[in-house]
Amino acid sequence: MSLNPTTEHFDVIIVGSGVAGALAADRLVKKGKNVCIIEAGGYATDERNRDRMLDYYVGSPSKATDAPFCGDEVLAEQPNPRRSPDGLNIEKLPDGANYYYYPPDYATPNDPQKRDKFLSYYERVVGGSTWHWQGIYVRMIPSDFTMSDFGIDTSKLTSDPSNFSLNWPLLYSELEPDYVAAEQELGVSGDPPNERLYRSQRRDRKRPQPYPMPSLVPSYLDRKITQALRQKRLTVSSEIPKVQVQGLSHEDIALNVTTVPHAILSHDKDGRQACDGRTSCVPLCPTGARYDATIHLWRARQNHNPAKLITQAVVKNLKLDDDGRRVLGVNYQKWRWDDQKRTRVADGDLVYASADIVVLAANGIENPMILLRTAVPGKTTGAANSSGMVGKYLMDHPIKQSYAVANEDLFPFRGPQTTSQIEDFRDGKFRKHYSAFKISLKNDGWMTNAAGAPRGSTANVTGNPLYKPGEDGDWWPGTILDLVTNRKYSGAKLREKLVRSMRHITLNAACEQLPVETNYVVLAKDPQGNDVTDELGIIRPQINYKVDDPLGYVRNSFKKIVDVHAKVFEALAIKPQFQVLQSDNDGQPLNYGGSGHIMGTTRMGTTAKNSVVNKDCQSWDHDNLFILGSSVFPTSSTANPTSTVAALSIRAVRAILRQMTEQGTLTAKRTT
Ligand SMILES: Cc1cc2nc3c(=O)[nH]c(=O)nc-3n(C[C@H](O)[C@H](O)[C@H](O)COP(=O)(O)OP(=O)(O)OC[C@H]3O[C@@H](n4cnc5c(N)ncnc54)[C@H](O)[C@@H]3O)c2cc1C
Ligand code: SF4
Repeated sequence: MSLNPTTEHFDVIIVGSGVAGALAADRLVKKGKNVCIIEAGGYATDERNRDRMLDYYVGSPSKATDAPFCGDEVLAEQPNPRRSPDGLNIEKLPDGANYYYYPPDYATPNDPQKRDKFLSYYERVVGGSTWHWQGIYVRMIPSDFTMSDFGIDTSKLTSDPSNFSLNWPLLYSELEPDYVAAEQELGVSGDPPNERLYRSQRRDRKRPQPYPMPSLVPSYLDRKITQALRQKRLTVSSEIPKVQVQGLSHEDIALNVTTVPHAILSHDKDGRQACDGRTSCVPLCPTGARYDATIHLWRARQNHNPAKLITQAVVKNLKLDDDGRRVLGVNYQKWRWDDQKRTRVADGDLVYASADIVVLAANGIENPMILLRTAVPGKTTGAANSSGMVGKYLMDHPIKQSYAVANEDLFPFRGPQTTSQIEDFRDGKFRKHYSAFKISLKNDGWMTNAAGAPRGSTANVTGNPLYKPGEDGDWWPGTILDLVTNRKYSGAKLREKLVRSMRHITLNAACEQLPVETNYVVLAKDPQGNDVTDELGIIRPQINYKVDDPLGYVRNSFKKIVDVHAKVFEALAIKPQFQVLQSDNDGQPLNYGGSGHIMGTTRMGTTAKNSVVNKDCQSWDHDNLFILGSSVFPTSSTANPTSTVAALSIRAVRAILRQMTEQGTLTAKRTT
């Protein structure tokens, strides 16, 4: 029971209303629990019918992935790629940073550690980042749970190898029933999983369970690439051209195109309509065919025992009991938008809410921030942190993209942004030496290119060092602004150049990243040692991150990716001068993108020494604290994280209910 609560007492408080929190809330209210969701952001503008959102999107000069869809006035402070070309840090705020804080020498030519920016971001709004996601819904494969078997040298990844493992504390086979349950909940379309990737399932050799709904239809572009790869019977060696990797054994890997499973409906379901293919999934699905967490939030709030949702309320920290074992509740700060100052301002004092069980579901950056901001009697490390691992081992899926202009029209800009993939490099013995990766065939032309051609807002493609018109003419696609403003095209010439975008291809490879202790998020301090705070006076995240790791795991993978991309373009008979391959130079920083997949900062494991939570997402240090989301991932795999986030939420709810029953908390409450 709580001490001096200033508001109501709940069975469960859930911090964050993204998919992790919303799914848990829906399940808990169905079991009769008294649930409160505390959410940093506000309601997205007309979240249900989306006409105003669509107007914002249509009115924005940029139609690229960072185009706005709901007003800033409902977003809690967040990393905002829209405000800065490098994704995050250009905006001229007084300290030169945009929410993520970096010290002044960070990622400059003078930075002694040659660090990189963390290019992934999230939405702090009711429903969280599923407003903005692509809906790709890929399960992890069995070998992803047992990465230690590859024999990777972990001594360079951590300062304490004896308390560090690349294995998950559970196997694929243990999580599969929860994957399947979550797929039913979200509405997932997909062909049966690729059997080759599941062959390493050691304990029980059952076939992987199918997805509940048939796959979305592959695009014309997908079919052309499939045809080309089949005709050539394209097989690629695991070796990396011109790179000697000691101990790397030769494997022949045949390239196949498979369909991408999505949390996007291929059939109408539960009053939601099937996808009608508008290719704007990121940033906005206007129809609701793509799942977003408001679906489960809505259900949790419509229940006869509705969940309470407190919005525009940023949880600052947890309150613990006197011996620091039990979480009593959370402290949160309400805010409102000041239209004149165009900022968020505190709305009243800090509020305390108490609960029997607290669930953090605030994502890979904000979960550790809440823990680190929490005072623990007799400790300076923050809550749930006896392992010292909170905030550490931050991971993403670094992206390497390649672009080309095909020899014939492939008609992109129809259907979801990706309908097919090449997933043959998701597993193999090479994973001892370099990251596995998965290649998405993009249906949105060059839209994810920095220039966002043809619909993006960047006007100066001619300033791009890769832009070389050359003897084959001015084939490089530009945004409409670029073509008109810089290249001065109009009339038939402009039309001809725009029609070229029918030939755009982007191959987007995202690779796994090893957990490295020196990649972390901490409470931000300026060089004078002062806290760096947000508009509400809450300490902001400071990031330390390098894409390149001490084993060259990502660097070598990037080299292999570029090699595979070039072979796919070659199979399509695209001349080299119409390909843009972004090779990296040895000794130079890597050219990479962020996936929005923020993992690893409250890792799960087998003991309180080697992890923050156990395999039920329960804190080792505080029995009544659960942590949901991809922050609990010990390794990143090649799977987009949300399928595993959702499966783990379902698993954790079982553990929460078990604990509540065992402790008789419900019975006790009923009798008071
Ligand atoms: C552009 C983009 C594309 C993506 N595409 C895919 C994809 O195709 N497939 C895939 O699997 N994944 C994808 N992802 C990742 C996916 O969006 C996330 O894995 C997923 O949304 C995480 O859900 P979550 O509930 O754990 O966290 P979030 O969605 O981040 O939700 C956390 C919630 O907590 C709230 N919150 C944060 N801090 C506090 C606080 N202090 N107090 C109170 N509330 C707080 C936030 O406002 C938010 O609502 C993508 C991400 C991005 C950015
Ligand atoms: S293609 Fe259109 S309808 Fe389909 S999920 Fe994407 S945005 Fe929604």
